[in-house]
Amino acid sequence: MTATPLLSNFVAGRWQAGSGAGTPLFDPVTGAELVRVDATGLDLAEAFSFAREQGGAALRALTYKQRAVLLSAAVQVLQANRDAYYEIATCNSGTVKNDSAVDIDGGIFTLGSYAKLGDGLGERHSLLDGEPARLGKDPLFQSQHVLTPTRGVALFINAFNFPSWGLWEKAAPALLSGVPVIVKPATTTAWLTQRMVQDVVDAGIFPLGALSVVCGSAAGLMDQLQPFDVVSFTGSAETAAVIRSHPAVTQRSVRVNIEADSVNSALLLPDTQPGSAALDLFVKEVAREMTVKSGQKCTAIRRALVPQALYAEVAAALAARLAKTTVGNPRNDTVRMGALVNRAQLATVQQSLHYLGAQTEVLHDGGSHALVDADAATACCVGPTLLGTRSAAGSDAADRVHDTEVFGPVATLLPYRSDAADGQDGLAHALQLVRRGQGSLVVSLYGEASALLARAAQELADSHGRVHIITPDVAALQTGHGNVMPQSLHGGPGRAGGGEELGGLRALNFYHRRSALQASTAVLDLIKNGADHD
Ligand code: NAP
Repeated sequence: MTATPLLSNFVAGRWQAGSGAGTPLFDPVTGAELVRVDATGLDLAEAFSFAREQGGAALRALTYKQRAVLLSAAVQVLQANRDAYYEIATCNSGTVKNDSAVDIDGGIFTLGSYAKLGDGLGERHSLLDGEPARLGKDPLFQSQHVLTPTRGVALFINAFNFPSWGLWEKAAPALLSGVPVIVKPATTTAWLTQRMVQDVVDAGIFPLGALSVVCGSAAGLMDQLQPFDVVSFTGSAETAAVIRSHPAVTQRSVRVNIEADSVNSALLLPDTQPGSAALDLFVKEVAREMTVKSGQKCTAIRRALVPQALYAEVAAALAARLAKTTVGNPRNDTVRMGALVNRAQLATVQQSLHYLGAQTEVLHDGGSHALVDADAATACCVGPTLLGTRSAAGSDAADRVHDTEVFGPVATLLPYRSDAADGQDGLAHALQLVRRGQGSLVVSLYGEASALLARAAQELADSHGRVHIITPDVAALQTGHGNVMPQSLHGGPGRAGGGEELGGLRALNFYHRRSALQASTAVLDLIKNGADHD
């Protein structure tokens, strides 16, 4: 049997193959081996210092506007190669076209959005943060805060579920800031990241050292980090703990951003009437979130909360929708939901279903879905499963549901007590249940009464990176519970990792250092006018 191709790493300005046998990547539907990745034997010290010194210096020599032009050029290259990316996603991630689009087009769109934002920053090399502040009675000596790009490397350690978006949503603000990037994609789906980097590198858009990719083991990467570097991690809470406790972070003050797992919720407000538009929107979104990318989305709805009186109606409506989901080989046009990423992920989902099963009833059984064009013995496919806690007391008792992120097409319907007698317009119990997620990326609220929605949103904002509020008037405009838009913050407090990404220009903060310049008005005026570079 001939060996599958070994993907190269791009570090220190050149393509370099690992010296080991490589780790194979598979098609999660057919089980076929596709390519191999390997980072054995790379000179990581050289890779990091090349990026830091050559890539960083070349990027920082450009203005924000000039770097924005490079981002736009990268968008053009990626758009020209979209078909190849879709093919890779189909065979390596097992996703249907619409789900591949979330990753591929979502990534390109985000990059394009930062190109536009960067254009507006103009021909500057640093950014002003606020207005000058007087330090005494005399206005001559003042303090002006500025943001300058950090003179280090941005290391990205990414999760398997977004090999494209996960790269570009981080690389766009980093490169726009003038900070070179080294990306280490999750091994299972590293191919798409590697191919996109290859296309952009081959097009010669960015200076050498600005964009590097390491495919394979993460061993040794964190050891390379120095005080002005930053690391942005996306993945499980378990690996996040390893990153946080690394000496680079604990001893060398490397700035770290963590995007971890999250038990997100959707809440149907207590004033909802049976058969209402709000109820219908809620049902559609929960079903959609469960099935998009087979539920392998960090923002997916895991807990769906409804007033006790609506539990049976919502359960029936959701089960009817989910029953229509065709599951199997994404190459078959009738299939709406493809595969989980690998056998390990399938096994974890099945174990988690068993674990949650002890505290819930099954409202729709994913096992009832026959696979289309896929062999259950090899394909990592599973139908969507809706669980439920039946009673408000059951929702209180089901601690596993509030604690466990099942990274697959699984959600739990949780009824809550909505009698106004408990105060807060019947919201109190629902809010209490949502908060048991201990901090999430997103919560969505469905209802018709603006005042109640506004209050619920403000109650939940402190524990969520994003609150998505849906009334019937925005039904056709809304961007979706799980869709991360570059204009809005992504990240969440507490168990979600405590990180912050995107949010428009706010994302640039992570790649800049803030300093207070204390000087005469004349000096500060020069800086304000952009005379900040040779
Ligand atoms: P993971 O197993 O934690 O892996 C994430 C990344 O860390 C991979 O690149 C992995 O490399 C690397 N890694 C593993 N061990 C490491 C170590 N000791 N030191 C440094 N890096 C190490 O997570 P995953 O299974 O890929 O992703 C699924 C999880 O990510 C889910 O829980 C999901 O909620 C979360 N997620 C969160 C977000 C968000 O924005 N909050 C987005 C997407 C996913 P290898 O692949 O080579 O092992």
